Amino acid sequence: MLKNKAAIVTGSTSGIGLGIATALAAQHCNVMLNGFGDPTAIENTRKGLSEKYGVKIGYSAADVSKPAEIRALVASAERELGSVDILVNNAGIQHVAPVEDFPDDRWDAVIAINLAAAFHAIKAALPGMKRRNWGRIINVASAHGLVASGQKAAYVTSKHGIVGLTKVVGIETANDGITCNAICPGWVLTALVQKQIEAKAKETGISVEQAKRNLLSEKQPMLQFTTPEQIGGLAVFLCSEHAATMTGAALPIDGGWTAQ
Ligand code: NAD
Repeated sequence: MLKNKAAIVTGSTSGIGLGIATALAAQHCNVMLNGFGDPTAIENTRKGLSEKYGVKIGYSAADVSKPAEIRALVASAERELGSVDILVNNAGIQHVAPVEDFPDDRWDAVIAINLAAAFHAIKAALPGMKRRNWGRIINVASAHGLVASGQKAAYVTSKHGIVGLTKVVGIETANDGITCNAICPGWVLTALVQKQIEAKAKETGISVEQAKRNLLSEKQPMLQFTTPEQIGGLAVFLCSEHAATMTGAALPIDGGWTAQ
């Protein structure tokens, strides 16, 4: 379906980003991976995806908290893969603390990575998409882009912000063959969430399994995690012609979290 198209997926060395990159590659899309991690593991992932799906898979270690590195990431994808037709702004971090104790540097980092990075990447990728009159921009927001939880000031702010950015870009590109949508997952069992579960288990003296069950039941009517593969499936749908008139939308995939 996406043969001869090329995508950047930020933060695709693990979790949801890797799920999306894999789903795009499975549709014969060339992909530029990005994110941190063990170089050997990343190279194995890159090579494995390329061999399995017969597509070009590149890798950039760009730190998306730095606008100059984002611009270089877009330029290198255009050079190595020929274009950036699909941009998935997925890289994200979390920090949990009450507002009055929230460290200034964590606030700055969350806003830079979860929100400002998407602005800089979209700005850099749009001219090429407009020239080709085709583009798909997918911002990985969160249920926390639609509703709030305590202790997550920076994260909730960044995710509400990216939903707003999604709407503006959707409107501005409405007649350029480009769509911009946000995916809003509930709980997905990735490194980002595992850390929160382990911290809760330690803090309250319960098992990790119990902390997992508590986490789900506190927010989600559906007591199961969404998988990176399911989010990859939604991203592929957003890249398809069936979704050509969907734009500026914030789509929950959250087990009923935000239906309440
Ligand atoms: P993860 O920790 O497994 O993956 C995060 C990825 O971002 C990794 O590849 C990491 O290397 C990369 N990254 C972090 N900082 C970076 C930087 N400065 N520059 C480049 N890459 C960087 O987490 P995940 O759960 O897969 O999260 C992916 C996205 O999904 C995030 O935006 C997160 O907010 C969002 N999300 C996650 C959940 C969940 O339950 N896991 C729910 C809703 C939304």
